Amino acid sequence: MFIERMSSWTKGTWFHGVKFVQDTKNKGKIAFGIMAALLLVSGTAAGGYVYQSNVNTLYHISLDGKEIGSIENPDAVRKWLGDRLAAEKKKYPDLALGFNKEISITEKQHYNGKGTRQEDVLNKLASAVQVEANAAQLVVDGQVIAYARDQKTINQTLTSLKASYNEKKATQNLTAGAGNVSPEQAKQMESDLSEVSIKENIQIREGKILPEQVLKEPQLMNRMKKGVTIVSKHETVETLAIPYRVNVKPDPTKYRGDDKTIVQGKNGSKQVVYELVKENGKLVQKNAVHQKILQQPVTKVMIRGTKVKPSRGDGQFRMPSAGILSSPFGKRWGRIHAGIDLATPIGTPVYTSDHGRVTFVGIKRGYGKCMIVDHGNGYQSLYGHLDGFVAKKGDIVAKGEVIAKSGNTGRSTGPHLHFEIHKDGEPINPMLFLR
Ligand SMILES: [Zn+2]
Repeated sequence: MFIERMSSWTKGTWFHGVKFVQDTKNKGKIAFGIMAALLLVSGTAAGGYVYQSNVNTLYHISLDGKEIGSIENPDAVRKWLGDRLAAEKKKYPDLALGFNKEISITEKQHYNGKGTRQEDVLNKLASAVQVEANAAQLVVDGQVIAYARDQKTINQTLTSLKASYNEKKATQNLTAGAGNVSPEQAKQMESDLSEVSIKENIQIREGKILPEQVLKEPQLMNRMKKGVTIVSKHETVETLAIPYRVNVKPDPTKYRGDDKTIVQGKNGSKQVVYELVKENGKLVQKNAVHQKILQQPVTKVMIRGTKVKPSRGDGQFRMPSAGILSSPFGKRWGRIHAGIDLATPIGTPVYTSDHGRVTFVGIKRGYGKCMIVDHGNGYQSLYGHLDGFVAKKGDIVAKGEVIAKSGNTGRSTGPHLHFEIHKDGEPINPMLFLR
């Protein structure tokens, strides 16, 4: 049997070629070329061979085993196929090309055989036969996403895509602002590259496709960027502050709000190694894998008063200030002196005489700067000629708490504290109550 394959025209042997098959039933193992010559001679040499002169040869053209016609001379078909392949070859010189159908030309002897018109056969070829490339398919999770010239091209492109996501730790480290990294550590980090992998299941298969659909590297890279997820993992080191804690010690002997810091708090610092997981360069996970304490924080220690201030007086008044009694309660120069005067230098602390609430802070005619405390039990106390205020209106003040500084404001003949106690709105002699 004589078979000529088109495969000899191209690089590979994978594609459908063209077969030349001689009908072996009648003629045995005689080569096609010699046989044709013999027939030509026998058909024209002598008129006596009537039977032989009516025998003619037809070439049956089949596509994938299905006959599309028979013609007397197969040269036009051969030429059409040859030209077709050559034209594509010229356009795509680096692709392995072939036909999409198996084309066979079979020589047969006929008695008065009638062939198909050559033009019809060529038209049928033109509509059914295409040149295709044997390419490599990139299969992502079972889906073909691209065709490339060969497996090597796909592998190389995948490698360079992966390489583009390979980051050095040092780059990350700079952004973390880790100032405490020693040169040795920095060096170690720089040499530690990230681990890059592909999330999807990748396969590369052989496949046939029209030559124009075989992607060149830049297009292949773009297709991969859309269809493939590059997972990169790398480590980064960050220096973080450890906030100090506060230890509060309650002190029942001090009033609520009286806080005192005994030990100042100080933040510590730690170095944390994170594993960063990125997909196509976008951070999807950040896991702390290791940490080292650089400096322990110092706990702040403070004392906090817990004693609740009573807002109601107990009726036991104390002296509002140190000082010498300079003027008593009662008649004075024909007028009633509604309180007592205590001679004090300007700025002497003034204490509230009993528990209560500050109800007035301001200037009162004659009294100058003045403060009134309501003791919630029918008693009120008044402090006049003050130099300045310590408590504010509305404050709850405990007996003995500093509420003001004594002075010489208002109608005053010298620095002193003017002090009154009222019972149900009427001034009474403080000296009757003071302890
Ligand atoms: Zn007075």
